Amino acid sequence: MKSQYQVVVIGGGIVGCSVAYHLTLRGLTDVAVIEREELTAGSTWHAAGGFHAINSDADVAALQKYTISLYPQVEEESGQPIGLIMSGGLELAGTPERAQWLKSELAWLRAMDTEAYLLTPEEAAEMVPIIDPAGLTGALFDPHEGNLDPNGATHAYAGAAKRRGAEVILHNRVLSLSQLPNAEWSVETEQGAITAEHVVNAAGLWARRVGNMVGIDHPLVPMPHHFLITESIPEVAAIEGSMAAVTDLEGFTYLQREGNGVLLGLYEQNPRHWQVEGAPWDFGMTLFPEEIDRIMPELSIGFERFPVLQDVGIKRWVNGAFTFTPDGNPLVGPVDGIPNYWAACGCMSGFSQCAGIGLVLANWIVDGDPGLNAFGLDVARFGPYASDDRYLRDTTAQFYARRFVMAYPNEELPAGRPLKTTPCYDDLAAAGARFSVNWGLEVPLYFAPAPEFEENDTLGRSNAESIVAEEVDAVRTAAGAYEIAQYARYEVTGAGAEAWLDHLMASRIPELGCIRLAPMLGQAGRVMGDLSVARIEEERFWLTGSYYLQVWHQRWFHQRLPDRGVTVRNITDDWMGFSVSGPVSRTILERMAHDDVSDETFPFLAVRTMDVGTAPAVVGRISLTGELGYEIVVPTNQHRALLQQLREAGQESGLRLIGDRAIDSLRLEKAYGIWNAEFTQAYTPGMSGLDRFVAFDKGDFIGREAALREREEGVAQHLVLLEVDAGAADASADDGIWIGDRRVGFVTSGAYGHHVKQSLALAYVDRDVIESADDLEVFVVGEARTARILPEAPYDPTSSKLRG
Ligand SMILES: Cc1cc2nc3c(=O)[nH]c(=O)nc-3n(C[C@H](O)[C@H](O)[C@H](O)COP(=O)(O)OP(=O)(O)OC[C@H]3O[C@@H](n4cnc5c(N)ncnc54)[C@H](O)[C@@H]3O)c2cc1C
Repeated sequence: MKSQYQVVVIGGGIVGCSVAYHLTLRGLTDVAVIEREELTAGSTWHAAGGFHAINSDADVAALQKYTISLYPQVEEESGQPIGLIMSGGLELAGTPERAQWLKSELAWLRAMDTEAYLLTPEEAAEMVPIIDPAGLTGALFDPHEGNLDPNGATHAYAGAAKRRGAEVILHNRVLSLSQLPNAEWSVETEQGAITAEHVVNAAGLWARRVGNMVGIDHPLVPMPHHFLITESIPEVAAIEGSMAAVTDLEGFTYLQREGNGVLLGLYEQNPRHWQVEGAPWDFGMTLFPEEIDRIMPELSIGFERFPVLQDVGIKRWVNGAFTFTPDGNPLVGPVDGIPNYWAACGCMSGFSQCAGIGLVLANWIVDGDPGLNAFGLDVARFGPYASDDRYLRDTTAQFYARRFVMAYPNEELPAGRPLKTTPCYDDLAAAGARFSVNWGLEVPLYFAPAPEFEENDTLGRSNAESIVAEEVDAVRTAAGAYEIAQYARYEVTGAGAEAWLDHLMASRIPELGCIRLAPMLGQAGRVMGDLSVARIEEERFWLTGSYYLQVWHQRWFHQRLPDRGVTVRNITDDWMGFSVSGPVSRTILERMAHDDVSDETFPFLAVRTMDVGTAPAVVGRISLTGELGYEIVVPTNQHRALLQQLREAGQESGLRLIGDRAIDSLRLEKAYGIWNAEFTQAYTPGMSGLDRFVAFDKGDFIGREAALREREEGVAQHLVLLEVDAGAADASADDGIWIGDRRVGFVTSGAYGHHVKQSLALAYVDRDVIESADDLEVFVVGEARTARILPEAPYDPTSSKLRG
């Protein structure tokens, strides 16, 4: 062991070893993996070693596909056998809705260039003869699934990393981490002190404890998990070659061949946690005793689906722990305020995700950028609220128990709610609000006039759409009030504020009293934010963005903040309000404001401080609905008063409370994109159309060179609006778009345009077909639907109403 390394990776599990390998692939070879015990000594050694590409986040799914594709290379480079078996995998559907859902999954897999296909239950039982097809409604076969030897794979990654220059140091626990004045780390280990420029927390079951060493509380928690391995089964022994893995989605079990027997794993409905604060330091390579009574309900279902298991001996039980985060994806990347510390933990699907994590982290450490849209696994996607032990227990138990349970797109899950509410929560609930959750905050989806109304969970359009239609109509004909507590706000002040923002934003910085839509780019020219910048005073700006990006955006700001002259304050919880839009919104504001708000004095994209009702407000003339509209923001302790006064002022003009669903319908009628759908780190200004806000001629700004290059070279795909001949369901994110056998794009969001009476979708489509294509096909809930590119927004394409 040397006394100095460029990168110290703490933890020699599958994730830490993959991170080390990927760093060496990027040419960073001064790397040490420091392992407490032996390689694999955490969750890795007792894993089942199964892998698959499917993930609800398309970018994470692509990383999982990358993970699977890399195994042969790692095996070859290291010379270490990894027992790779590409058996393919079957998913079994036990309800008609699930069979339909498998059709959607098939369409997504096809869009990812995976040759999956559907089977009847009988065909599935032919493929894996121990399946009892009774009660099944369908199956899907994905050839990119399989399993491997966890121990071999970890040693292969470590061996390949060593061949490229990394060191692996065993039996050496990291005891503490302290940051030096030059932002390097002093790493105290059992074998002595090391200085490292970067440290990576890949400590698996101990990752929360390692995070604590640098003052962070990562939202992850260990949970025990069971599988059993049977004695030989004649039907399995008779299969030549590999046997497809099986996931029984309604049965909560997965199964794979293990020698001439099988391995059956279970995700029980009554899971439990273990050592919420992290495994004890002296926890060895041990298993927990099996808890058969607790898992009996799922075990019984498994024995019914695979009846042969009732008569075969069980060779071995495994009940071991691995870590979960609230959404089941890992925590990867840098942490705001702790330079040169990197998370690579919370990974519950190590054999599907290890290479994806390694790739993203190595890019980030070497280039300062993950190289792709990594938000789905970014450690910054959670706020401090997520590390609360009770919240963590509730949400991870929910995730675990629903691992295979189908989530309907309109389904609201209860765990950890309500956590954050605005002062208007009770009033909104009394007005019929049905809530969703955004970063822990309860946000209205729509307002049901009848208290007894119950929304049906569905893959298509739900019975709440008639309510949404009324809300849309109110906005188009009168006015709607939408709570905008779910926007994040940052106040930027100081003598250097304008210059700093000018460098940070790709747009021009607004004049005093004006708002501008301001794309923010990364160095490689991809979009980092779709913020609006309001200049309230000469040296006082408000940036408004997505609520759930607070940690993500602040990390970006803080990394680029000069030592003096600029202060950035997160004022999200201090100021909130309502967006009022619709043809009569000015009349309503006039009744409440003491200032003149006529078009002459308060035009489109103006911002003013003024009293609205009894509250000192910041009012911006801006709207996401395509109508004349205002965002009225007040100190949080007056948010409730604002709502009451707004409702009084709007009563006789038909003002209606509206929620997120109406906003989606309204914005699609105007072809407006939003963050995490049309705008993400995967896209560029040229692709997304945000280039119209980029001030190419204003001088230097982050990402300018790349943006200029893109302007010269053109883009391969462009954001367009589609009209879809949808039936009872609208398109949704990641639905593939095809011309014949060629995939020409994918949907980013879809909704029914209730005013224009069209099913609409925003989508990225290959540029070369945009002009000519009139015969597109979109897969909506797995069914092919024809679609056309609309030349302009179907509602008010000239935006005369917005400016009116
Ligand atoms: C029963 C079971 C079955 C599973 N089956 C599958 C499966 O089929 N497919 C799949 O993808 N996943 C499966 N998993 C999950 C999988 O095991 C994990 O996702 C994976 O092992 C996580 O790897 P890791 O490297 O992040 O963590 P770990 O394997 O926990 O590695 C962390 C390492 O860090 C070391 N360490 C911790 N603290 C320190 C310190 N202070 N100093 C030095 N070293 C330290 C530990 O000793 C340990 O070796 C299963 C898990 C269980 C429990």
